[in-house]
Amino acid sequence: MFDNLQDKLEGAFKVLKGQGSISEINVAETMKEIRKALLDADVNYKTAKTFTEDVKQKALGQNVLTAISPGQLLTKIMNDELTALMGGSVEELNIKQNPTVILIAGLNGAGKTTFTGKLALHLKSQKGKKPLLVAGDVYRPAAIDQLEVLAGQVGAEVYTNRESTDPVAIAMEGIAHGKKNGNNVIIIDTAGRLTLDDALMDEIAEVKKATQPQEILFVVDAMTGQDAVNTAKVFNDRLDFTGVVLTKLDGDTRGGAALSIKSVVNKPIKFIGTGEKMDALDVFYPDRMASRILGMGDVISLVERAQQQFDEKEAAILQKKIRKNKFDFNDFLSQIQQIKKMGNIKDLMGMIPGVGKMMKNVDIDDNAFKGIESIIQSMTPHERENPDSINQSRRTRISKGSGTDMTEVNKLIKQFEDMRKMMKQFSDPSAMAKMQKMMK
Ligand code: GDP
Repeated sequence: MFDNLQDKLEGAFKVLKGQGSISEINVAETMKEIRKALLDADVNYKTAKTFTEDVKQKALGQNVLTAISPGQLLTKIMNDELTALMGGSVEELNIKQNPTVILIAGLNGAGKTTFTGKLALHLKSQKGKKPLLVAGDVYRPAAIDQLEVLAGQVGAEVYTNRESTDPVAIAMEGIAHGKKNGNNVIIIDTAGRLTLDDALMDEIAEVKKATQPQEILFVVDAMTGQDAVNTAKVFNDRLDFTGVVLTKLDGDTRGGAALSIKSVVNKPIKFIGTGEKMDALDVFYPDRMASRILGMGDVISLVERAQQQFDEKEAAILQKKIRKNKFDFNDFLSQIQQIKKMGNIKDLMGMIPGVGKMMKNVDIDDNAFKGIESIIQSMTPHERENPDSINQSRRTRISKGSGTDMTEVNKLIKQFEDMRKMMKQFSDPSAMAKMQKMMK
């Protein structure tokens, strides 16, 4: 995401490279480039204009310290201003009340139902909640089926009433059911339409009036750019929602909606969807997104995701095993599985500073680990614990069992051995000291 904008901004900053100070003239030129970059990213015209004016004023008002270059100073100002543009600080979901009612609204295809499932998973696993999903799309039986499937995937309860065609009645029944059932968050998925129309607005307004939700989240497809912003405006004028969910940011290379929505609608973006899977949901942090746009990489998100997946105790056990040179194929397999749990590999790499842009045109297959997994799974427990025992005849059997080429099996075992050697070196304090001496 934001690939083009990143490139263009880099170009804009180049204007300042080699300049000793920020002057009226070089700032004006840079601002022109930045405004062009924002417009190309499909940012709303007024937003782009106000934004560059603000940045310019801030830049001109500052003395350039000798320690930093004008380019660096401008990056810092841009970072602060982009953060402010996208809402400043993170806006948490208001889920204090028991039960909390959350209404989900948006056009068909925006990703409402998918988000409803993702939100249930987020509330369950990160907030310790017991959510109930209410299927309020009375027009599409397939939408009810879809919600049931997603609820099953994330292990959440779901309330449906296929007999009824009254969205208000279903929502109220759902809330009553949730209260009786001990659900502390009730998420109501509403019906969408293909385009904006009054009937849809009336219907959701009715549901809102009856259910008095603490949160109304407007779900919109980021790939639709300025249309997303316009739709948000129409919905907000009628519904006065509490937050925006931008979906499909993984497919949005321009990022205009993410940048303009807050300033046009004055409602915070609360979540972003970054894929079709149930765990592809992130809380929206304006500051992290800003540094990502400027190519600083979203290191904090990366660390957080890693922390969610990795168990400290397990890590300590693993370190001990490495030190004793007892790291085996079982450990290797569980490491691969943990990396996979963290999500799409290309997305993860993109969060590392400097790597994002390099990865742009590289195709990383998420199934790349499949071959490795099936090879390890074809090993006997004894072989997995004793990698040295895997001789030629065992390799032949593993290759046949896993349906992979013999060369692949040999390659994996060789890589594993190399890795073990390296791990041993790094965990041996005397070897480390020697290496450090050599590098001095
Ligand atoms: P609804 O009509 O608003 O309920 O939309 P759905 O939840 O059915 O989503 C429409 C399509 O968008 C489905 O194919 C989803 O898998 C896909 N989708 C939803 N969110 C995301 C996302 O964040 N990234 C990607 N790549 N696809 C998404």
